[in-house]
Amino acid sequence: MSFASLGLSEAIVRAVTERGYTTPTPIQAQAIPAVLSGGDLLAGAQTGTGKTAGFVLPILQRLSQEPRPAAAHGRAPIRALVLTPTRELAAQVEESVREYGKHLHLHSMVMFGGVNINPQMQKLRGQVDILVATPGRLLDHVQQKTVDLAHIEILVLDEADRMLDMGFIRDIKKILALLPKKRQNLLFSATFSDEIKALADGLLDKPALIEVARRNATADTVAQKVYPVDRDKKRQLLTHLIQEKQWFQVLVFTRTKHGANRLAEQLSKDGISAMAIHGNKSQAARTRALAEFKTGKLQVLVATDIAARGIDITELPHVVNYELPNVPEDYVHRIGRTGRAGCEGEAVSLVCVDEHKFLADIERLIKRKLPREVVPGFEPDPNARPEPIMLRSQEHQQRGRGHGQSAPRATGQPGRASGKPQAGKPALGGNRGGAATGAKPAGPKPAAMHRSGGRNR
Ligand code: AMP
Repeated sequence: MSFASLGLSEAIVRAVTERGYTTPTPIQAQAIPAVLSGGDLLAGAQTGTGKTAGFVLPILQRLSQEPRPAAAHGRAPIRALVLTPTRELAAQVEESVREYGKHLHLHSMVMFGGVNINPQMQKLRGQVDILVATPGRLLDHVQQKTVDLAHIEILVLDEADRMLDMGFIRDIKKILALLPKKRQNLLFSATFSDEIKALADGLLDKPALIEVARRNATADTVAQKVYPVDRDKKRQLLTHLIQEKQWFQVLVFTRTKHGANRLAEQLSKDGISAMAIHGNKSQAARTRALAEFKTGKLQVLVATDIAARGIDITELPHVVNYELPNVPEDYVHRIGRTGRAGCEGEAVSLVCVDEHKFLADIERLIKRKLPREVVPGFEPDPNARPEPIMLRSQEHQQRGRGHGQSAPRATGQPGRASGKPQAGKPALGGNRGGAATGAKPAGPKPAAMHRSGGRNR
Protein backbone atom coordinates (compact mmCIF):
# COMPACT_ATOMS: atom_id res chain seq x y z
CA MET A 1 0.00 0.00 0.00
CA SER A 2 1.23 3.51 -0.77
CA PHE A 3 0.44 6.94 0.68
CA ALA A 4 -0.90 8.03 -2.71
CA SER A 5 -3.41 5.17 -2.72
CA LEU A 6 -4.86 6.53 0.54
CA GLY A 7 -6.00 9.62 -1.31
CA LEU A 8 -3.26 12.02 -0.29
CA SER A 9 -2.17 14.74 -2.69
CA GLU A 10 1.10 14.75 -4.59
CA ALA A 11 2.56 17.55 -2.42
CA ILE A 12 1.92 15.58 0.76
CA VAL A 13 3.14 12.27 -0.65
CA ARG A 14 6.31 14.04 -1.80
CA ALA A 15 6.99 15.41 1.69
CA VAL A 16 6.41 11.98 3.25
CA THR A 17 8.68 10.34 0.69
CA GLU A 18 11.37 12.92 1.38
CA ARG A 19 11.05 12.04 5.07
CA GLY A 20 11.91 8.48 4.04
CA TYR A 21 8.55 6.78 4.56
CA THR A 22 7.49 4.41 1.83
CA THR A 23 4.58 2.51 3.37
CA PRO A 24 1.87 3.76 5.71
CA THR A 25 1.87 2.17 9.18
CA PRO A 26 -1.32 0.28 10.15
CA ILE A 27 -2.76 3.26 12.02
CA GLN A 28 -2.04 5.53 9.07
CA ALA A 29 -3.64 3.10 6.64
CA GLN A 30 -6.84 3.21 8.67
CA ALA A 31 -6.88 6.73 10.06
CA ILE A 32 -6.01 8.65 6.90
CA PRO A 33 -9.09 7.59 4.86
CA ALA A 34 -11.29 7.96 7.95
CA VAL A 35 -10.16 11.52 8.59
CA LEU A 36 -10.34 12.42 4.90
CA SER A 37 -13.98 11.34 4.90
CA GLY A 38 -14.71 14.14 7.37
CA GLY A 39 -16.12 11.99 10.18
CA ASP A 40 -15.09 11.75 13.81
CA LEU A 41 -12.47 9.23 14.91
CA LEU A 42 -11.64 7.35 18.06
CA ALA A 43 -8.20 5.80 17.78
CA GLY A 44 -6.42 3.54 20.22
CA ALA A 45 -2.82 4.10 19.38
CA GLN A 46 0.31 4.74 21.33
CA THR A 47 3.32 6.80 20.55
CA GLY A 48 5.51 4.92 18.14
CA THR A 49 2.73 3.66 15.92
CA GLY A 50 2.97 6.57 13.51
CA LYS A 51 -0.21 8.13 14.87
CA THR A 52 1.03 11.69 14.39
CA ALA A 53 1.22 11.37 10.61
CA GLY A 54 -2.08 9.46 10.89
CA PHE A 55 -3.88 12.66 11.74
CA VAL A 56 -1.49 15.35 10.46
CA LEU A 57 -1.45 14.14 6.84
CA PRO A 58 -5.23 14.05 6.31
CA ILE A 59 -5.66 17.35 8.18
CA LEU A 60 -3.13 18.98 5.86
CA GLN A 61 -4.96 17.50 2.91
CA ARG A 62 -8.37 18.70 4.05
CA LEU A 63 -7.21 22.21 4.87
CA SER A 64 -5.25 22.61 1.66
CA GLN A 65 -8.14 21.39 -0.48
CA GLU A 66 -10.76 23.68 0.94
CA PRO A 67 -10.46 27.42 0.51
CA ARG A 68 -9.31 29.37 3.57
CA PRO A 69 -12.35 31.10 5.13
CA ALA A 70 -12.62 34.86 4.83
CA ALA A 71 -10.65 36.92 7.30
CA ALA A 72 -12.38 37.89 10.51
CA HIS A 73 -10.92 40.85 12.42
CA GLY A 74 -8.27 41.31 9.76
CA ARG A 75 -6.86 37.78 9.77
CA ALA A 76 -8.05 34.42 8.50
CA PRO A 77 -9.09 32.15 11.37
CA ILE A 78 -7.33 29.19 12.95
CA ARG A 79 -8.84 26.06 11.36
CA ALA A 80 -7.36 23.09 13.18
CA LEU A 81 -6.49 22.71 16.84
CA VAL A 82 -4.35 19.90 18.22
CA LEU A 83 -4.23 19.60 22.01
CA THR A 84 -1.41 17.65 23.60
CA PRO A 85 -0.56 16.92 27.23
CA THR A 86 3.07 18.01 27.16
CA ARG A 87 5.30 20.64 25.65
CA GLU A 88 7.53 18.00 24.11
CA LEU A 89 4.66 16.35 22.30
CA ALA A 90 3.31 19.72 21.16
CA ALA A 91 6.72 20.62 19.74
CA GLN A 92 7.05 17.25 18.00
CA VAL A 93 3.59 17.37 16.49
CA GLU A 94 4.06 20.89 15.19
CA GLU A 95 7.42 19.92 13.74
CA SER A 96 5.64 17.11 11.89
CA VAL A 97 3.02 19.55 10.62
CA ARG A 98 5.75 21.76 9.23
CA GLU A 99 7.66 18.89 7.73
CA TYR A 100 4.73 17.11 6.09
CA GLY A 101 3.22 20.42 4.99
CA LYS A 102 6.40 21.89 3.57
CA HIS A 103 5.10 21.86 -0.01
CA LEU A 104 1.77 23.41 0.97
CA HIS A 105 0.85 26.97 1.88
CA LEU A 106 -0.47 26.35 5.37
CA HIS A 107 0.87 27.96 8.51
CA SER A 108 1.25 26.27 11.86
CA MET A 109 2.17 27.36 15.35
CA VAL A 110 3.10 25.62 18.57
CA MET A 111 2.06 27.06 21.91
CA PHE A 112 2.95 25.86 25.40
CA GLY A 113 3.57 27.24 28.85
CA GLY A 114 6.82 27.82 30.64
CA VAL A 115 8.04 30.26 28.02
CA ASN A 116 7.38 33.94 27.40
CA ILE A 117 3.86 34.52 26.13
CA ASN A 118 4.66 37.64 24.10
CA PRO A 119 6.25 35.98 21.05
CA GLN A 120 3.20 33.69 20.95
CA MET A 121 0.88 36.69 20.94
CA GLN A 122 2.92 38.20 18.15
CA LYS A 123 2.69 34.99 16.11
CA LEU A 124 -1.07 34.78 16.64
CA ARG A 125 -1.42 38.15 14.94
CA GLY A 126 -0.21 36.52 11.73
CA GLN A 127 -1.68 33.67 9.74
CA VAL A 128 -2.11 30.44 11.71
CA ASP A 129 -4.05 27.60 10.10
CA ILE A 130 -3.05 24.81 12.48
CA LEU A 131 -2.44 25.43 16.15
CA VAL A 132 -0.76 22.80 18.33
CA ALA A 133 -1.11 23.66 22.00
CA THR A 134 -1.05 22.45 25.56
CA PRO A 135 -4.34 23.27 27.31
CA GLY A 136 -3.09 25.58 30.07
CA ARG A 137 -1.30 28.06 27.86
CA LEU A 138 -4.10 28.00 25.33
CA LEU A 139 -6.51 29.10 28.07
CA ASP A 140 -4.09 31.87 29.07
CA HIS A 141 -4.42 33.19 25.53
CA VAL A 142 -8.19 32.76 25.61
CA GLN A 143 -8.28 34.84 28.78
CA GLN A 144 -6.14 37.52 27.22
CA LYS A 145 -8.31 37.38 24.11
CA THR A 146 -5.27 36.80 21.94
CA VAL A 147 -6.63 33.66 20.33
CA ASP A 148 -9.93 33.03 18.56
CA LEU A 149 -11.17 29.45 18.46
CA ALA A 150 -14.58 30.19 16.96
CA HIS A 151 -13.70 28.87 13.50
CA ILE A 152 -11.98 25.58 14.34
CA GLU A 153 -12.99 22.96 11.77
CA ILE A 154 -10.95 20.06 13.14
CA LEU A 155 -10.05 19.27 16.75
CA VAL A 156 -7.51 16.63 17.78
CA LEU A 157 -7.06 15.42 21.34
CA ASP A 158 -3.70 13.69 21.22
CA GLU A 159 -2.75 11.31 24.04
CA ALA A 160 -6.09 12.05 25.65
CA ASP A 161 -5.48 9.56 28.46
CA ARG A 162 -2.33 11.39 29.48
CA MET A 163 -4.19 14.67 29.39
CA LEU A 164 -6.75 13.30 31.80
CA ASP A 165 -4.03 11.77 34.00
CA MET A 166 -2.41 15.16 34.19
CA GLY A 167 -5.64 16.75 35.35
CA PHE A 168 -6.50 18.65 32.18
CA ILE A 169 -10.14 17.58 31.97
CA ARG A 170 -11.52 20.91 33.19
CA ASP A 171 -9.27 22.84 30.84
CA ILE A 172 -10.34 20.62 27.95
CA LYS A 173 -14.00 21.19 28.73
CA LYS A 174 -13.46 24.93 28.85
CA ILE A 175 -11.75 24.79 25.47
CA LEU A 176 -14.48 22.58 23.94
CA ALA A 177 -17.05 25.17 24.98
CA LEU A 178 -15.28 27.78 22.85
CA LEU A 179 -15.32 25.73 19.65
CA PRO A 180 -18.03 25.82 17.00
CA LYS A 181 -20.59 23.00 17.30
CA LYS A 182 -20.01 21.77 13.79
CA ARG A 183 -16.50 20.37 13.53
CA GLN A 184 -14.57 17.15 13.08
CA ASN A 185 -13.19 15.56 16.27
CA LEU A 186 -10.32 13.11 16.48
CA LEU A 187 -9.43 11.48 19.77
CA PHE A 188 -6.22 9.50 20.22
CA SER A 189 -5.59 7.56 23.37
CA ALA A 190 -3.36 4.65 24.34
CA THR A 191 -5.83 3.37 26.93
CA PHE A 192 -9.60 3.41 27.34
CA SER A 193 -10.56 4.07 30.92
CA ASP A 194 -14.14 4.91 31.86
CA GLU A 195 -13.10 8.54 31.96
CA ILE A 196 -11.85 8.42 28.37
CA LYS A 197 -15.02 6.64 27.29
CA ALA A 198 -17.10 9.35 28.95
CA LEU A 199 -15.08 12.04 27.22
CA ALA A 200 -15.41 10.25 23.87
CA ASP A 201 -19.16 9.77 24.33
CA GLY A 202 -19.67 13.46 24.93
CA LEU A 203 -17.35 14.59 22.19
CA LEU A 204 -17.58 12.25 19.24
CA ASP A 205 -20.39 11.75 16.79
CA LYS A 206 -20.57 8.20 15.36
CA PRO A 207 -16.80 7.91 15.31
CA ALA A 208 -14.80 5.48 13.21
CA LEU A 209 -13.00 3.16 15.62
CA ILE A 210 -9.41 2.16 15.09
CA GLU A 211 -7.11 0.24 17.33
CA VAL A 212 -3.58 -0.84 16.58
CA ALA A 213 -0.99 -2.73 18.50
CA ARG A 214 2.12 -1.14 19.84
CA ARG A 215 5.17 -1.41 17.66
CA ASN A 216 8.07 -3.24 19.09
CA ALA A 217 10.71 -1.18 20.78
CA THR A 218 14.05 -2.79 20.21
CA ALA A 219 17.40 -1.18 19.75
CA ASP A 220 16.79 -1.76 16.05
CA THR A 221 14.04 0.79 16.02
CA VAL A 222 15.96 3.47 17.85
CA ALA A 223 17.13 6.05 15.38
CA GLN A 224 20.86 6.19 15.91
CA LYS A 225 23.08 8.83 14.45
CA VAL A 226 26.64 10.06 14.74
CA TYR A 227 27.49 13.75 14.53
CA PRO A 228 31.19 14.08 13.74
CA VAL A 229 32.51 17.22 15.43
CA ASP A 230 35.73 18.67 16.82
CA ARG A 231 36.27 18.01 20.52
CA ASP A 232 36.15 21.69 21.45
CA LYS A 233 32.90 22.29 19.55
CA LYS A 234 30.87 19.55 21.19
CA ARG A 235 29.19 21.76 23.74
CA GLN A 236 28.16 24.35 21.16
CA LEU A 237 26.85 21.58 18.90
CA LEU A 238 24.82 20.07 21.73
CA THR A 239 23.28 23.45 22.57
CA HIS A 240 22.57 24.00 18.88
CA LEU A 241 20.85 20.62 18.49
CA ILE A 242 18.75 21.00 21.63
CA GLN A 243 17.60 24.47 20.69
CA GLU A 244 17.18 23.91 16.98
CA LYS A 245 15.30 20.64 17.31
CA GLN A 246 13.43 21.66 20.45
CA TRP A 247 14.52 18.58 22.34
CA PHE A 248 13.06 18.03 25.78
CA GLN A 249 13.89 15.35 28.33
CA VAL A 250 17.35 14.84 26.96
CA LEU A 251 19.53 12.35 28.81
CA VAL A 252 23.15 13.19 28.09
CA PHE A 253 25.98 10.82 28.89
CA THR A 254 29.48 11.85 29.75
CA ARG A 255 32.35 9.56 30.63
CA THR A 256 33.35 11.30 33.84
CA LYS A 257 31.69 12.93 36.82
CA HIS A 258 33.71 16.04 36.39
CA GLY A 259 32.68 16.20 32.74
CA ALA A 260 29.03 15.79 33.74
CA ASN A 261 29.22 18.67 36.21
CA ARG A 262 30.96 20.95 33.81
CA LEU A 263 28.60 20.22 30.95
CA ALA A 264 25.51 20.82 33.12
CA GLU A 265 27.03 24.14 34.17
CA GLN A 266 27.76 25.17 30.61
CA LEU A 267 24.33 24.21 29.31
CA SER A 268 22.77 26.24 32.10
CA LYS A 269 24.83 29.20 30.96
CA ASP A 270 23.44 28.64 27.47
CA GLY A 271 19.92 28.98 28.87
CA ILE A 272 19.11 25.25 28.89
CA SER A 273 18.04 23.92 32.27
CA ALA A 274 20.41 21.08 33.12
CA MET A 275 21.62 19.15 36.13
CA ALA A 276 24.25 16.48 36.56
CA ILE A 277 23.76 13.23 38.44
CA HIS A 278 26.55 10.90 39.39
CA GLY A 279 27.96 8.98 42.28
CA ASN A 280 29.18 12.06 44.12
CA LYS A 281 25.76 13.67 44.34
CA SER A 282 23.68 13.14 47.43
CA GLN A 283 20.63 10.94 47.12
CA ALA A 284 18.41 13.96 47.80
CA ALA A 285 20.02 15.91 44.98
CA ARG A 286 19.66 12.97 42.61
CA THR A 287 16.03 12.43 43.54
CA ARG A 288 15.25 16.08 43.00
CA ALA A 289 17.00 16.15 39.63
CA LEU A 290 15.18 13.02 38.51
CA ALA A 291 11.79 14.24 39.64
CA GLU A 292 12.22 17.51 37.77
CA PHE A 293 13.50 15.67 34.73
CA LYS A 294 10.57 13.28 34.69
CA THR A 295 8.00 16.05 34.86
CA GLY A 296 9.74 17.91 32.07
CA LYS A 297 10.72 20.89 34.25
CA LEU A 298 14.35 20.04 33.73
CA GLN A 299 15.26 19.84 30.08
CA VAL A 300 18.58 18.02 30.31
CA LEU A 301 19.97 15.47 32.71
CA VAL A 302 23.67 14.83 32.39
CA ALA A 303 24.74 11.46 33.74
CA THR A 304 27.63 9.06 33.88
CA ASP A 305 26.98 5.43 32.93
CA ILE A 306 27.10 4.21 36.48
CA ALA A 307 24.71 6.84 37.82
CA ALA A 308 22.26 6.20 34.99
CA ARG A 309 22.14 2.48 35.67
CA GLY A 310 20.68 2.87 39.10
CA ILE A 311 17.81 5.06 38.06
CA ASP A 312 14.45 4.22 36.74
CA ILE A 313 14.13 6.21 33.58
CA THR A 314 13.29 4.59 30.32
CA GLU A 315 11.36 5.51 27.22
CA LEU A 316 13.13 8.79 26.75
CA PRO A 317 12.76 10.64 23.49
CA HIS A 318 16.43 11.67 23.32
CA VAL A 319 19.63 10.11 24.48
CA VAL A 320 22.86 11.91 23.65
CA ASN A 321 26.28 10.37 23.90
CA TYR A 322 28.21 13.54 24.52
CA GLU A 323 31.19 11.27 24.84
CA LEU A 324 31.23 7.71 23.59
CA PRO A 325 31.77 5.07 26.24
CA ASN A 326 35.04 3.16 26.01
CA VAL A 327 33.15 -0.05 26.80
CA PRO A 328 30.93 -0.77 23.77
CA GLU A 329 28.29 -2.57 25.88
CA ASP A 330 27.70 0.69 27.73
CA TYR A 331 26.56 2.19 24.43
CA VAL A 332 23.86 -0.46 24.14
CA HIS A 333 22.74 0.21 27.71
CA ARG A 334 22.65 3.92 27.09
CA ILE A 335 20.54 3.77 23.97
CA GLY A 336 18.26 1.23 25.63
CA ARG A 337 16.94 4.21 27.56
CA THR A 338 15.21 5.46 24.48
CA GLY A 339 13.26 3.81 21.71
CA ARG A 340 9.81 4.56 23.04
CA ALA A 341 7.92 2.10 20.88
CA GLY A 342 9.13 2.30 17.34
CA CYS A 343 11.26 5.03 15.88
CA GLU A 344 10.23 7.62 18.40
CA GLY A 345 13.45 7.38 20.35
CA GLU A 346 16.57 8.96 19.06
CA ALA A 347 20.10 8.25 20.21
CA VAL A 348 22.76 10.54 18.89
CA SER A 349 26.49 10.52 19.48
CA LEU A 350 28.80 13.50 19.23
CA VAL A 351 32.04 11.97 18.09
CA CYS A 352 35.41 13.67 17.83
CA VAL A 353 38.60 12.34 16.31
CA ASP A 354 39.79 10.97 19.68
CA GLU A 355 36.86 8.57 19.78
CA HIS A 356 37.09 6.88 16.41
CA LYS A 357 38.37 3.69 17.98
CA PHE A 358 35.46 3.64 20.45
CA LEU A 359 33.06 4.14 17.58
CA ALA A 360 34.61 1.30 15.61
CA ASP A 361 34.30 -0.99 18.67
CA ILE A 362 30.64 -0.06 19.08
CA GLU A 363 29.86 -0.61 15.42
CA ARG A 364 31.55 -3.99 15.59
CA LEU A 365 29.46 -4.95 18.62
CA ILE A 366 26.11 -3.84 17.19
CA LYS A 367 27.08 -5.18 13.76
CA ARG A 368 26.16 -2.09 11.89
CA LYS A 369 27.63 1.16 10.73
CA LEU A 370 25.91 4.18 12.21
CA PRO A 371 24.87 6.96 9.86
CA ARG A 372 26.98 10.13 10.08
CA GLU A 373 25.58 13.61 9.73
CA VAL A 374 27.76 16.68 9.70
CA VAL A 375 25.94 19.76 10.96
CA PRO A 376 26.71 22.88 8.90
CA GLY A 377 28.93 25.16 10.94
CA PHE A 378 30.30 22.20 12.94
CA GLU A 379 32.33 20.47 10.24
CA PRO A 380 35.23 18.65 11.90
CA ASP A 381 38.74 19.70 11.02
CA PRO A 382 39.98 16.98 8.61
CA ASN A 383 43.54 17.49 9.86
CA ALA A 384 42.72 17.13 13.56
CA ARG A 385 44.89 14.58 15.34
CA PRO A 386 43.56 12.23 17.97
CA GLU A 387 44.57 12.76 21.57
CA PRO A 388 44.32 10.19 24.34
CA ILE A 389 41.19 10.22 26.45
CA MET A 390 40.97 10.14 30.21
CA LEU A 391 38.67 7.45 31.48
CA ARG A 392 36.63 7.15 34.64
CA SER A 393 39.24 5.03 36.36
CA GLN A 394 41.83 7.71 35.74
CA GLU A 395 39.58 10.58 36.72
CA HIS A 396 39.76 9.53 40.33
CA GLN A 397 43.56 9.34 40.33
CA GLN A 398 43.78 12.53 38.36
CA ARG A 399 41.56 14.55 40.62
CA GLY A 400 43.15 12.99 43.67
CA ARG A 401 46.44 14.46 42.52
CA GLY A 402 44.95 17.94 42.41
CA HIS A 403 43.40 18.90 39.18
CA GLY A 404 44.93 22.35 39.12
CA GLN A 405 48.46 21.18 38.41
CA SER A 406 47.91 18.03 36.47
CA ALA A 407 44.94 18.86 34.30
CA PRO A 408 45.76 21.94 32.30
CA ARG A 409 43.33 20.89 29.56
CA ALA A 410 40.40 20.84 31.92
CA THR A 411 39.93 24.57 31.66
CA GLY A 412 39.11 26.45 28.53
CA GLN A 413 38.42 23.24 26.67
CA PRO A 414 34.71 22.82 26.48
CA GLY A 415 33.77 19.43 25.21
CA ARG A 416 36.76 17.68 26.69
CA ALA A 417 35.80 15.17 29.33
CA SER A 418 38.38 16.16 31.79
CA GLY A 419 42.05 16.78 32.38
CA LYS A 420 45.11 15.61 30.63
CA PRO A 421 45.85 11.91 30.73
CA GLN A 422 48.95 10.70 32.44
CA ALA A 423 52.00 10.92 30.29
CA GLY A 424 52.88 7.70 28.56
CA LYS A 425 49.55 6.09 29.49
CA PRO A 426 47.19 6.52 26.61
CA ALA A 427 43.81 5.76 28.02
CA LEU A 428 42.24 4.01 25.04
CA GLY A 429 40.82 0.66 25.95
CA GLY A 430 41.32 1.11 29.69
CA ASN A 431 39.31 -0.78 32.25
CA ARG A 432 35.76 -0.02 33.24
CA GLY A 433 36.71 2.16 36.11
CA GLY A 434 34.11 1.20 38.65
CA ALA A 435 36.27 3.04 41.16
CA ALA A 436 34.59 6.26 40.22
CA THR A 437 31.24 5.63 41.86
CA GLY A 438 30.81 6.61 45.38
CA ALA A 439 34.43 7.63 45.72
CA LYS A 440 34.92 11.09 47.09
CA PRO A 441 37.39 13.08 45.06
CA ALA A 442 40.14 14.81 46.91
CA GLY A 443 40.01 17.63 44.41
CA PRO A 444 37.54 20.48 44.39
CA LYS A 445 33.97 19.61 45.29
CA PRO A 446 31.70 18.91 42.37
CA ALA A 447 29.63 21.83 41.30
CA ALA A 448 26.26 22.25 42.92
CA MET A 449 23.05 21.60 41.02
CA HIS A 450 22.46 24.13 38.35
CA ARG A 451 19.28 25.39 36.91
CA SER A 452 18.84 28.17 34.57
CA GLY A 453 16.19 30.72 33.92
CA GLY A 454 16.26 29.50 30.35
CA ARG A 455 13.59 28.84 27.80
CA ASN A 456 12.14 25.82 29.50
CA ARG A 457 10.88 27.50 32.62
P1 AMP B 1 4.45 8.63 16.24
O1 AMP B 1 3.75 7.43 16.74
O2 AMP B 1 3.59 9.52 15.43
O3 AMP B 1 5.15 9.39 17.35
O4 AMP B 1 5.60 8.15 15.23
C1 AMP B 1 6.60 7.27 15.64
C2 AMP B 1 7.78 7.29 14.72
O5 AMP B 1 7.49 6.59 13.52
C3 AMP B 1 8.24 8.67 14.31
O6 AMP B 1 9.62 8.74 14.50
C4 AMP B 1 7.89 8.78 12.87
O7 AMP B 1 8.83 9.58 12.21
C5 AMP B 1 7.94 7.35 12.39
N1 AMP B 1 6.99 7.06 11.29
C6 AMP B 1 5.75 7.56 11.15
N2 AMP B 1 5.18 7.08 10.04
C7 AMP B 1 6.07 6.26 9.45
C8 AMP B 1 6.04 5.46 8.25
N3 AMP B 1 4.98 5.40 7.47
N4 AMP B 1 7.15 4.76 7.96
C9 AMP B 1 8.22 4.80 8.78
N5 AMP B 1 8.31 5.52 9.91
C10 AMP B 1 7.23 6.25 10.27
